[in-house]
Amino acid sequence: FARLREGLSKSSRRLVDGISGLFVKRRLDAATLEELEDLLITADLGVETAAKLTANLAREKFDKEVTGDEVRAAFAADIAEILAPVAVPLEPREVPNKPFVVLMVGVNGSGKTTTIGKLARQWTGAGKKVVLAAGDTFRAAAIEQLRVWGERTGCPVIEKPHGSDAAALAYDALVEARARGADVLLVDTAGRLQNKAALMDELAKVIRVLKKQEPDAPHATVLVLDGTVGQNAHQQVKAFREMVDVTGLIVTKLDGSARGGIVVALAQSQGLPVHAVGVGEGADDLRPFEPRAFARSLMG
Ligand code: GDP
Repeated sequence: FARLREGLSKSSRRLVDGISGLFVKRRLDAATLEELEDLLITADLGVETAAKLTANLAREKFDKEVTGDEVRAAFAADIAEILAPVAVPLEPREVPNKPFVVLMVGVNGSGKTTTIGKLARQWTGAGKKVVLAAGDTFRAAAIEQLRVWGERTGCPVIEKPHGSDAAALAYDALVEARARGADVLLVDTAGRLQNKAALMDELAKVIRVLKKQEPDAPHATVLVLDGTVGQNAHQQVKAFREMVDVTGLIVTKLDGSARGGIVVALAQSQGLPVHAVGVGEGADDLRPFEPRAFARSLMG
């Protein structure tokens, strides 16, 4: 968790320093509470969360002397409580008709393909047979990249030439995964959010053809979000929830200049499960989402 801690504390330094700067033993008054609320909003935690955290603090400590450390500890405890209900790992279930099908969605560059590779590593490590489907048929580089992840993790990659129909690929991939007795099929998809209508059609068609073979598929639809995009994440979640039935989130790049506060805002506003977080580009850089550790890292 060092990398998550380092990444988050780097990005939340302004928040942490801001809170500490407000208190060199000082009474908690209305003006200070307002400043705290602004700091939390600036750190992407969202208006609702900021109001809740400061209201809780006021209830306990108004007009009392407090230190920055105490405030940060109080906030971290409240944040962990907000995050606890959404921290749900993604476990491929045993389904009557194997494989468990996971549709991975998200905008280009969010870390979708990399996350597929990381999940493939994790699940093959747990003894599962995993097949990958190169469903972003629009970009030759995406197919190539998934092929590399297939080699790295020892998982077969089902692909078609660049430009092929994504739904046809998904259909074939499920047939092939079944034929191979796979436990899990991870389906990559295109992420051209700038052409939303076309993407929506494509994803709908992919889901339709999967359901033709397996009415319960996809068993999970995971939205991959780049943790460095800040407020923009809200639009991405909204756009994808309009297109598909998103069942959970994975937030990537929390090792870098990520603004982890956004995860708290999303937990509060969307209530979607957060399955895991990405903390690097390597195959083993996916971590379970742990509310207390995350909250503590966020508060320095
Ligand atoms: P896609 O277009 O959504 O499939 O995104 P990619 O999987 O190609 O990832 C885009 C870039 O982000 C690549 O350079 C990845 O190596 C990088 N990346 C993905 N996840 C992480 C992460 O958790 N941390 C860091 N630092 N980089 C990541």
